[in-house]
Amino acid sequence: MTTAPATTIRRYGIFVDGAFDAADDRSSIARNSPVDGRELAVYAAGDRTDALRAIAAARRAFDDGPWPATSSMDRARTLLRVADLMRANAERLALIEAEETGKPLRYAESDVAGSAELFEYAAGLAMAAHGEAHTGLGEGATALVVREPAGVAAMILPWNFPLLLLAQKLPFALAAGCTAVVKPSEFTSGTALELAGILAEAGVPAGVVNVVTGYGADVGAVLAESPDVDLLSFTGSTATGHAITAASAGTAKRLSMELGGKAANIVFDDADLDDALDGVLFGAFFNNGECCVAGSRLLVQDSIADDFVERLVAAAQQIRVGDPLDGSTDVGPMIHGGHLEKVRAHIASAESHGGRIAVGGGVPRGVETSSGHFVEPTIVLDVTEASPEFHQEIFGPVLTVTRFTDAEEAVALANATEYGLSGSLWTKNIDRALSVAKKLRSGRVWVNTTIDGGPQLPAGGMKQSGYGREMGNAGFEEFTEVKTILIRE
Ligand code: NAD
Repeated sequence: MTTAPATTIRRYGIFVDGAFDAADDRSSIARNSPVDGRELAVYAAGDRTDALRAIAAARRAFDDGPWPATSSMDRARTLLRVADLMRANAERLALIEAEETGKPLRYAESDVAGSAELFEYAAGLAMAAHGEAHTGLGEGATALVVREPAGVAAMILPWNFPLLLLAQKLPFALAAGCTAVVKPSEFTSGTALELAGILAEAGVPAGVVNVVTGYGADVGAVLAESPDVDLLSFTGSTATGHAITAASAGTAKRLSMELGGKAANIVFDDADLDDALDGVLFGAFFNNGECCVAGSRLLVQDSIADDFVERLVAAAQQIRVGDPLDGSTDVGPMIHGGHLEKVRAHIASAESHGGRIAVGGGVPRGVETSSGHFVEPTIVLDVTEASPEFHQEIFGPVLTVTRFTDAEEAVALANATEYGLSGSLWTKNIDRALSVAKKLRSGRVWVNTTIDGGPQLPAGGMKQSGYGREMGNAGFEEFTEVKTILIRE
């Protein structure tokens, strides 16, 4: 089944203090379809003044507004209303997400459902939040350790999961009593702006959440530099993460950095190879391969490598590339032309460093004459540590294959990149699973599954993949300050 694209160009102003600015009377950013170049949306190109205005609104809403002082029960009820409204608007949200990102519509639908669940989960956390009391500090002494909202939280987002990654931050911040300034990616701002309208409808007071569209240098940098922002939660590339860290150095704001990844999928010879095959394909090609936790490196044990790779290549040949709104599409176009060129350059580099292309590498059949940013799902064999593609994020539908002999070598190869975001391993041996999982230097490890989880489970990186955690109780605590109160009678 094919879903019809939206027929009108969506126009959005900036959302500050509970209202959208007029969209028409200022410089703007056009978002064109990665499928055919058609204009999809026009966003306001926010500038320093807009960013400062939004920060001031969030500051007022935190210092004077009702939100931080609202009972946790009432905050939870509001978050639940947001989740209901997201579900009521799911079709529109998913269509916008698929059109702007180029991800297959079914993945966009699951992003919307997952985002609503994150609001529901955060509502539960708001109600369950509590502190500690200590009485062992001597006669007549009582100490309280309480969690307070961290203040004004800035959120800067990438383009690959525009709504879902916002939902990994915003409901947790709101549950804690923070106010927020959101800076979505300039390529995919639609669903953050739609969510702003939903938040207002659900009863989130004016100024509590502000959404400023625009480029990183114009809006994001102001959020990093501002002393009125207490906390900045960033998801994006490691290079931008470093720039934000430097820009924020003159302030004492807390940072949470969700950066790049280069995950390994380790397949041992005793694995359920059918499950492993499905998992490796999903890990590599889910969300067009534009996924921070993509299993972009297959590490496969020598003794099974020939057969496993043969089956993998045959399965990859069946992957359907095309329009994200076509229900049969598995992989859509890359986000923009520059990114397509980057992915192609990586494929060429992998080959020039001794890799052998087993499948893909070119323009997919059926879209040769289209103006879309398409690339074939690609598997490159014999990629060694000497190849840049073993280490660098490709962020497209490209899987590299490297062989190993034993668990020790698998761990060494998996840990050989500067990143440490996630990894998967496939084995029926529970001792080996646990021992390898403990040795992987990454924030998440999946055993006999991949890119899996739920709102309860924290996500985040080690090494150059960053620090700080999202989701789960740890994700909630990121948006709180601990205060100790000691009373002596
Ligand atoms: P990016 O770093 O180019 O941009 C991310 C955001 O930062 C955008 O909103 C951009 O406008 C803004 N920005 C750019 N320069 C800035 C500056 N100087 N100051 C402040 N803000 C600035 O990343 P991208 O290309 O949008 O996304 C892809 C990257 O995101 C990949 O590296 C991927 O691994 C990473 N990512 C990480 C996670 C995670 O959970 N760790 C999740 C998704 C994506």
